[in-house]
Formats: sequence, C-alpha cells, structure tokens
Amino acid sequence: MAGLRKLVTAFAGVPGIIGLHGGLPPASAFPITELTYTLKDGQKIVVDDPAKLAAAQQYSLVTSGYPPLHRWAKSHMLSMHSPPAGVHDLIMTNGNNQTIEMVMRLLMDKGDAILCEEYTYPHVAESFVQPQGYTAVPLSMDSFGIVPSLLRQTMESFRAAGKPLPRLLYTVPVGQNPTGVVTPFERRKEIYALCREYDIVLLEDDPYYYLQFSPGGGQPKGLCDLGRSYLSMDVDGRVVRMDSFSKVLAPGMRLGWVTAAPKLIEKIIYHLQGVHIGANSFIQVVVAEMLDAWGEAGFEAHVRAMQTEYAQRAAVVQAAAERHLAGLAEWQPPAAGMFLWLRLLGIPDARSILDALKDSGVVLVPGRFCHCCGPEHHKACPYLRVSFASATLADLSEGMARLGAVLRRFTSPPD
Ligand code: PMP
Ligand code: PLP
Repeated sequence: MAGLRKLVTAFAGVPGIIGLHGGLPPASAFPITELTYTLKDGQKIVVDDPAKLAAAQQYSLVTSGYPPLHRWAKSHMLSMHSPPAGVHDLIMTNGNNQTIEMVMRLLMDKGDAILCEEYTYPHVAESFVQPQGYTAVPLSMDSFGIVPSLLRQTMESFRAAGKPLPRLLYTVPVGQNPTGVVTPFERRKEIYALCREYDIVLLEDDPYYYLQFSPGGGQPKGLCDLGRSYLSMDVDGRVVRMDSFSKVLAPGMRLGWVTAAPKLIEKIIYHLQGVHIGANSFIQVVVAEMLDAWGEAGFEAHVRAMQTEYAQRAAVVQAAAERHLAGLAEWQPPAAGMFLWLRLLGIPDARSILDALKDSGVVLVPGRFCHCCGPEHHKACPYLRVSFASATLADLSEGMARLGAVLRRFTSPPD
C-alpha cells in the first residue's frame, strides 16, 4: 500500500494529468446540492459552491485536513501558543479520544509503561491502556498537578530496578479529568524540563483548554488569558498536543487536531490513510464555513459564552456543595472544565454508598474508576467525581442535596 501511495504522490500535480487511479465517486453522484444552517447568534450559512459541496461529500483529498480548516487550525495554534518555529506540524483528527488511541498505538508496544496522573480520564485506563497491554505508572498529584519530585523519583525507581524507563507521559493540564486541576505555567516548566532530562514524550490532552474561567465569577477569560501550554515551550518536538472541538463546539462533530513533530505527523497520516483516509470531510466543511463566517471575533464571542456558562455551573455546584456537604467532603473550587472532585471525609470507600445513592436518585462517578491502573487495581477510594456539565442548574443543587443526605446518613453515629 505504501508503494501505491508513493506512486500516486509521484504523479500528483503533473499538469493536465487525467486521474484514472482512485476509487472516488464522481461529484455528479452526490446527493446534497445545497447546505444551509443557522448559528446560535442567528447567522445563516449557505454553502452552494459546487467545489465546496463536492469537497464535503468526497473522501478527504488531503489526509491532513480540508485545506481551509487546516489553515485555520495552523494559524489559530500560532496565535494561541506561538510554539518554537519549525518544530511541529498539524493534522485534523476525529477528536482527542481517537488521537490518544492512535498516538499510543503508534508510539508504544505491548508491555510498555506510560506515566499518567494517578487519577485520570477513565477511558484512558479502560479503553486504551488495559486492552493494549500497556502498564500505567501512576504519578501522585497535588493541587497544582503532577509533582515534579515524584516524577523524578518514579523514573529513578525504574532505573534502580534496571527496568526500561517509561517513554511517554499522558497528562490533562487544564480542568484535569477527574480532579479539575489546572497545572500552572511554573509547574509545567518543571515537568517539561524533566521530560527533556529523561527523554519522555509528553502527550498533552487539552480538551478543556477553552473552558477556563475565574472561580467565583468575574469576566470570562476569552482567548487571551488561557495560560501557556506545553506545546508553547516545546523546543524539541517531544510534545504531542491534542486539541478538540468537542467541548468548545460540539462532541458529535467528532473533530479535533493534533500538533506534533513532523515525523510523528507523517506516521499519523500513513496510519489514517489506512483507517478512514482523513477526518470526515462533511463536518470539516461545515466547521470551516462556520469559523469563516464568525471570524476571530465570532469564535472568541462563542468561547466567552461557553466560559460564562461553565463558570455559572461551577458556581452553582460549588454553592450547593458548601450548603450540603460542609464537614462531609472537601474539594478545590474548579477553575476550568466540568468536574468537581470530592474527597469524602469519614467514608474510606465511595463504593459503600453507591446503593444508597441509587435509591436516592443521584449518579456520580466513584473515583476508583478514574484510577489510571483501573478500578480492580485500586482498593478503597474515598473520591467522587461530580460533573456539572449537563444537569439543569436546579438539578445540580438537588443532586448535591441528595448526596449530602446520603453522606450524613453514612457518617452520623448509629442511634
Ligand atoms: N472496502 C472496499 C472493498 C472498498 O473498495 C472501499 C472504498 N474504496 C472501502 C472498503 C472503504 O469504504 P469507506 O469509504 O466506507 O471507508
Ligand atoms: N480527553 C479527556 C481528558 C476528556 O475528558 C475527554 C472527554 O470527556 C476526551 C479526551 C474526549 O475528547 P473527544 O471528544 O475530543 O474525543
């Protein structure tokens, strides 16, 4: 297949060439002749240009992405992160889940170790790490994220045991799932320096980057005040930064992008040519037209509206926690993302209250499911993850009240 790809590439761009090589349906066969959609702000978008309609319905002709959207992503990354020049390349993906799975598959073999925040995005352990036979190595966190001295200690313990050192670190630096932690710039600099020292590739999974807000209210941050990413300091090309439209636009779009060293991007392109040829053309055209209609100001206005929405949700859940959970649990006020991470006081294992939670009609994620080694490797766990993303504001308060009532029942001394 690589041979055929090379041959086609060698012929590409020959002036006047007649294409008798690909299994691409003719544009005249496509069913959709006009596309109209309306945005929240009332803007109506009409796509009636035959070239755009053909691009939307054809295989992705360029695996790295629909060129107008790819251009948007490149210039957006430049203005948001100003990564060191000439170190990275970028390709559109089907969102961060796909990117994580694919990058791990390309960079790891069965049995390899991957460093993770001790509590991490549950799908990572459940759907990627365990099924592929990788070994997750937990890194304890404090309220600023991964603790550098513990990262060093972990690497040195591998060295002392004569085991191959982990080559990859997976981290969620903003609104970490499940702890909600935002890793400050100073901490990121220390972690990046350790990655250089031990030659670790850093997977920066950042779907909540745009959902940052000031705890306790205040103006939305917009696009200017979102902090410096790992990518922005990546002089070596060791950061694989994964961005996603899921949380800032809509997860059903299944669209994101990955920025990494050109060698890895090339590997990804070959891989995706064998999987789906390129991210869904249709949604790439829809989003490209939308971003074009919005312009930078429109995108920023949308981001601000999202930040305001999540700040309000965070404030409601925080107030409800203060009202109903005081003395029963402790937490850090969230400053990004969609999760409040509760440590139960006086209940060593959240499993013991699950039946009672079900009976009182509220569902939350027990922390053990977020442990990077998987729930079965983790015994008693006093944490609960509360999502404030989707319930109504009234249900957020009611859910916390129900949780508080259950906790009170389990922690009060028996009569
Ligand atoms: N299987 C066969 C036999 C094909 O010829 C093609 C398209 N050329 C595919 C699969 C790919 O299908 P899809 O566009 O649904 O990925
Ligand atoms: N990474 C983290 C940390 C997440 O919390 C999520 C969604 O919950 C994802 C990735 C999935 O992102 P996507 O929808 O882009 O696949």
